Amino acid sequence: MHLAKLPDLDKAAWVSRAAALGFETRLFIDGAFVDAADGGRFATVNPATGETLAEMSAGTGADIDRAVAAARRAYKSGVWSKLAPRDRMAVLYRFADLIEDNAAELALLDTLDMGKPIADMVGVDLPEVVKTIRFMAECIDKIDGKVTATEAGVLHCVLREPFGVVGAISPWNYPLLMAVWKIAPALAAGNTVVLKPAEQAPLSCLRLAALFVEAGGPPGVLNVVNGLGEVAGRALALHPDVAKVSFTGSTEVGKLILQYAGLSNMKQVALECGGKSPQIVLADVSDLERAVTSAVNGIFGNQGEVCNAGSRMIVDRKIAGDFVDLFKAQAQAAFVPGDPLDPATRLGPLVTEEHKGRVLGYLQAGRDEGARVVMGGDAPDGQGAYVNPTLFSDATPSMRIVREEIFGPVGAVIAVDGPDEAIAVANDTIYGLAAGIWTSNIDTALRLVREIEAGVVWVNSFDEGDMTQPFGGWKQSGNARDKCFDSVVSYTQTKSAWIRHR
Ligand code: NAD
Repeated sequence: MHLAKLPDLDKAAWVSRAAALGFETRLFIDGAFVDAADGGRFATVNPATGETLAEMSAGTGADIDRAVAAARRAYKSGVWSKLAPRDRMAVLYRFADLIEDNAAELALLDTLDMGKPIADMVGVDLPEVVKTIRFMAECIDKIDGKVTATEAGVLHCVLREPFGVVGAISPWNYPLLMAVWKIAPALAAGNTVVLKPAEQAPLSCLRLAALFVEAGGPPGVLNVVNGLGEVAGRALALHPDVAKVSFTGSTEVGKLILQYAGLSNMKQVALECGGKSPQIVLADVSDLERAVTSAVNGIFGNQGEVCNAGSRMIVDRKIAGDFVDLFKAQAQAAFVPGDPLDPATRLGPLVTEEHKGRVLGYLQAGRDEGARVVMGGDAPDGQGAYVNPTLFSDATPSMRIVREEIFGPVGAVIAVDGPDEAIAVANDTIYGLAAGIWTSNIDTALRLVREIEAGVVWVNSFDEGDMTQPFGGWKQSGNARDKCFDSVVSYTQTKSAWIRHR
């Protein structure tokens, strides 16, 4: 999908639009922008330049209380939850249209805030945002209940109803898209929402909330409270009036969210957490060049800051040498660190200097543990939170670069002897988000599909899909399923109505 209304802009045009951009910094509660109750602020920084973009209002427990109260009032009033499905749909369609109308501004906000190349914002994130909202709008009047078989004299209906107030906590790697994967199905199902975006990329969701109201969304239905995770995020997940919390982020914080639910009101918890996805390339792969292209994109796309990044390349020993040579040649041509405002750039800076330091620590750990640096392995000279795209070969399953989520442009090749060892290595992880399998043998492909422990398995592809695909993990990658019709259903709960009529 293309953003029909967005003209092709060159670097100079993006730079001049960026310079003209103004930033909203306040919280969005009950349909209006407001300052944080205690006046606190935190800085958001452009990782490409190190320049502070804005001082954002830092929400605390008092602001979360205000936002949840507004969301609860809006829910109880029925202005959204009791709206006729077609009317709710119309608002969400208008919302998607307004996002398209404002695509350049929204794209710039995320690019400046977290360093994602503008080409990715325009070519991937924003089209997916618009598609998600339209898909979830289409689902609204397809949510149905059922009438079960009963004795005569009883009508038993199983109804699906919204939860009430949903708390959404989102990460910084796709600031708009990850938020929309939560708010679109939650709103479609009739809930009201309090969103706490990641503090590393707090700008764009404020614009989103304003566009929702412009589209006809009633005040209080969608609220955005920026702030630090351990302050505002924690208060939201602990709040007794939040009926469901939907979290995307690290496995470590996902485990805290489960605790907060247990410590408060047993709210439902939906988790989309970390990953360490395998890309398995077997010796009978029919087109090694294509598999390599997919592997390169699967680890270096979005700077490797992707939950399902294919960071473990499990390659049959017979072809591992060819794989590594082709990988290096393709990756060095395609992924050169550059200015994210240049539409030719495919690799921007990492989200923060702090995260860059963390990723460089993993590069050192890989060397210390005996892996061989095939390309990259360091940071380019100059300003910005850049790390050179890195491939390690001769990696083994016990190394930290193979076991831990790095969340940067760092891949490791682990050579194996045949499909059995490939399965064992692929499953030797606490994570289970996604996996790719490259083979020309249909029996092998189907066997691996069955045996790989992951929520999403691609055969002869990687990171493809459409809105019908349930996206989510097994094991410590979480329990939620985003996109897909089931996602909307997961923001409803059943009510059994047992009606005795004689
Ligand atoms: P993070 O866990 O540090 O933060 C995620 C969100 O949680 C942020 O909004 C943060 O402010 C908030 N938070 C932090 N501490 C909190 C606390 N104590 N209580 C409540 N909220 C708190 O993750 P991140 O660095 O923003 O994102 C990267 C992680 O997200 C990676 O692990 C990645 O794999 C994961 N991710 C998963 C998916 C998926 O669909 N499975 C998608 C994108 C990202």
